[in-house]
Amino acid sequence: MSFEFVQSFPYDPISSLLRKFAYGLVTTCVLGTAVYIGYRVAAPDKSYIKRYRYPELNDQIEKVIASLKINDEQLKHIMRTLEEEMNTGLSPTTHKQSSVKMFPSYVRHIPDGTEVGQVLALDLGGTNFRILSIKLRGNSKIDLTSKIFVVPQSVMIGDGRHLFRHLVECLSDFMKKEALLHTGICYPLGFTFSFPCKQESLSSARLTAWTKGFSCSGVVNEDVVKLLQDAINEKGINVKCAALVNDTVGTLMACAYREPSTAIGLILGTGTNACYIENLDNVGTWNGDYNEPKQVIINMEWGAFGDNGCLNHIRTKYDEEVDLSSINPGKQTFEKMISGMYMGEIVRLIILDLLQQELLFLGHRDTYGDYKTPLYNRGGFYTKFVSTVETDEGIKFSNTRRVLEDIGIRNPTFDDCVIVQHICRQVSTRAARLAGAGLAVLINRMKKSNITIGVDGSLYRYHPRFKRNMERCMENLVHKDLKFKWALSDDGSGKGAALVACVAEQNSSGIFVQNHKEVPDYKKSE
Ligand code: ADP
Ligand code: MG
Repeated sequence: MSFEFVQSFPYDPISSLLRKFAYGLVTTCVLGTAVYIGYRVAAPDKSYIKRYRYPELNDQIEKVIASLKINDEQLKHIMRTLEEEMNTGLSPTTHKQSSVKMFPSYVRHIPDGTEVGQVLALDLGGTNFRILSIKLRGNSKIDLTSKIFVVPQSVMIGDGRHLFRHLVECLSDFMKKEALLHTGICYPLGFTFSFPCKQESLSSARLTAWTKGFSCSGVVNEDVVKLLQDAINEKGINVKCAALVNDTVGTLMACAYREPSTAIGLILGTGTNACYIENLDNVGTWNGDYNEPKQVIINMEWGAFGDNGCLNHIRTKYDEEVDLSSINPGKQTFEKMISGMYMGEIVRLIILDLLQQELLFLGHRDTYGDYKTPLYNRGGFYTKFVSTVETDEGIKFSNTRRVLEDIGIRNPTFDDCVIVQHICRQVSTRAARLAGAGLAVLINRMKKSNITIGVDGSLYRYHPRFKRNMERCMENLVHKDLKFKWALSDDGSGKGAALVACVAEQNSSGIFVQNHKEVPDYKKSE
């Protein structure tokens, strides 16, 4: 019987395989769906999982976080205020009252990639002091060599003449290594000097105040280009400082060399600032000529937007605390809500507030009170931590856990991680939306149908969603028929200064830069 059975249902290896495969497929689908549902339920993107296990705590946390939210209507109001401040800053009669100073940069020619020349640049005022040698090849390509030098603390706070002598010593060393000394050519130099200056022409600018740890004597109110050129002449090297530029202008120029549609320069680093191309007719404070091109790059100094109180309605108690404990209270209101120097500190203050309200790190109360840990100290939560926390996807929170351990919270719970990530997202999204609203004002004002925004700065470069968040809010704020794209600038501030110097020198030699293809023969300056 059994033999017959076997015979009437012979073993078929193919259908057996197919059956196994089908079982396998069904099992995989069921398991896969279960895992997916599990993941989505626990995924931090879902608003319901941002909820604490105790609903009443969750409401209190949301109340704290709500103060950071700025909706589209509020953003549109901020845009109108910014544009009013810009116009106030551009008019000579009202300039003093504006929080946005709108300084004309004296840079009027935008490169188009055809420029050629061998130029030097000196970049002082960012995180590093750098010297660059740049060869513009005329086909939007640049050959670049650069070196970072140290400015010793004693020089940063010493006699101004020593500072400029030190810069020139470094420049001379660099030129020697690059075989640029005594070549019979006087190289134009672009000076990126990222300190507040009142510019009087392309190659003269008076320092209004030192910042960022510098305080050399005998420099405030002096023409820093002249101080640099005096030191160059004293050393007897073949260099002429042809232009001083702000880092936003450098960024715009460097990006324009590759992408001529660039019309905005944006910095999102230690600080934030922007520049754009404005029609001369709108610049009441302009004291130069009205020749073509009838435009000038305006260094907005937008970091100071709100210093006259016009942004008080969106400031939170955390912003006020950051401001009061800064070295410049009452100054750089917009910057303090956006840039890398302050973002981590805002997050830290919110975490501390939640901790003190017993809304966070509930399971670890016995480990608190160690006031030496970074959590309790100003600057203890770096802005790069905000990026790290926000790169976590899913439910493991391995980056967030690492960051929390770094600031002194051992074994944080899942809830702790979710809440800390939520805080980081709210603070960085607010920053991105404010910067996006500022850019939208510029794009709508220039009315160019396709423009490129040149950007430099570690916050833009490394934060995982800053750019995306700016873009998202700009979709609702920029006029629908105006398109824009981004260009990340590498070495932008130095390269751009070199370009400005190159264009300035070629113009002063009577050469029409945009069409000139040969390296001009610079005569050695005396
Ligand atoms: P600078 O503005 O001085 O020229 P950067 O553009 O490098 O220099 O910006 C430095 C700032 O960027 C620092 O204040 C720091 O807070 C911030 N930063 C550095 N790394 C990151 C990161 N991974 N994510 C976000 N911000 C960062
Ligand atoms: Mg910089």
